[in-house]
Amino acid sequence: MRRTRRVKIVATLGPASYAPEMIERLFEAGVDVFRINMSHSPFDLVKKVHAAVRTAEAHFSRPIGILCDLQGPKFRVGNIAGERVALSEGATFRFDSSEVEGGPQRVGLPHPQIFEAVELGHTLLLDDGKIRMTVVDKNRAGIDAKVVVGGVLASRKGISLPDTVLPIGPLTEKDKRDLDFALRLGVDWVALSFVQRGDDVKLARQLIGQGAWIMSKIEKPAAISDLESIIAHSDGLMVARGDLGVELPVERVPGLQKQIVSKARSAGKPVVVATQMLESMIASPVPTRAEVSDVATAVFDGADAVMLSAESAVGKYPIEAIRTMDRIVIEGENDPSYSALLHATRTPPQATAADAIAAAAHTIADTLKLAAIICYTATGSTALRVARERPGLPVIALSPVLTTARKLAAVWGMHCVLTSDPENQAAMVRKACRIAFDEGFARPGEGVIIVAGVPLGSPGTTNMVRIAHLDDQGNPVAEGV
Ligand code: PEP
Repeated sequence: MRRTRRVKIVATLGPASYAPEMIERLFEAGVDVFRINMSHSPFDLVKKVHAAVRTAEAHFSRPIGILCDLQGPKFRVGNIAGERVALSEGATFRFDSSEVEGGPQRVGLPHPQIFEAVELGHTLLLDDGKIRMTVVDKNRAGIDAKVVVGGVLASRKGISLPDTVLPIGPLTEKDKRDLDFALRLGVDWVALSFVQRGDDVKLARQLIGQGAWIMSKIEKPAAISDLESIIAHSDGLMVARGDLGVELPVERVPGLQKQIVSKARSAGKPVVVATQMLESMIASPVPTRAEVSDVATAVFDGADAVMLSAESAVGKYPIEAIRTMDRIVIEGENDPSYSALLHATRTPPQATAADAIAAAAHTIADTLKLAAIICYTATGSTALRVARERPGLPVIALSPVLTTARKLAAVWGMHCVLTSDPENQAAMVRKACRIAFDEGFARPGEGVIIVAGVPLGSPGTTNMVRIAHLDDQGNPVAEGV
């Protein structure tokens, strides 16, 4: 099976899509990576869903990625007598450390880190930003805040602090348990929620190692301020527009999306644009025109992948949502402006052998009108540098490592094939031609370009480019530079 698009689709699993036969249908409809949201998934369910994705992978003989999304630190207010209280604009409301039920004047906040870090003038957002307050006093009794936008506050609603850098690590105790379970099960990507700084990712890496690639979700203002460092320490990024649009004014999200995608692309780190992409398809079989435009915008920005959340997790039309996304992406990529836009937003290669070779392979392929770029990749690093180029021809990644092929399922343009490493360079050229031919990427008479790090299997040694043309049987007829 071969996709006819370069931008990948990530779909969140949920009650609407947990069934094994549904997972297979979603894959056929276009899903490249399945996301498991640990906020809502008990271990026995995660285990079943994980097994169903791996079964689908075996059935279709195509590597499929699994992204485990950790809940991260979520803060909630305590209980309120009568379950809810109305807060009017202009009123002063107190947050304290008492466990007594709250009321019209106050509520408990069982998170000492907030009392430690919050400052006068900081904003407090409650219930996904529906209620907004400003801190006017902080004393031994607690935090006093003035209600700027009022509303009804219910027990245990979430609270977020967009201005406050909290003295917390990236992983809660629940995250650590979830992570341990997910890594033992074998997931390909781990998404970190509410990352604040590059050091958070470094700490998470100590637990995760290279077992899974780390996708940092950008959803906090502090993360925007430390974006370069977060990108440097992460394997990929997610523009988590849901919480980003709570913590920052929603009108800032489109510009930030462009900035995050551009910086991730420049670093050669895969970037996923997420949340509310086809929101109306939770209840309707067709999207709004604005949603179609939103998905297309992410494609034109050069994102590696677009993501569905509730649409595929709890919506009435998960298959239709995937098919719709697939069609929008294909149409966007076929639009004449696509390659011009990708080219205009491309940044020069970094001064490394891998980037120089990836850029050279791209130029050679364009000049010679070759049919495909084929890269041998054990860790995925050569493939990522080629993807960074956003070449206008198919890219086939050949890897002997199944987990690498699964991770690359989230990466722009990658068609991954699991295959053992050839024993010498002649065999390398033969194998590349054969796979390009068998998978329908190159026909007799057409040429391919092969990129690798020789000796194969040694990470970070991208150092070889070869050109080959195919004979009638899919074997190489000539060997070039
Ligand atoms: C988001 O906030 O956009 C997001 C993807 O995170 P979650 O769905 O976990 O809230």
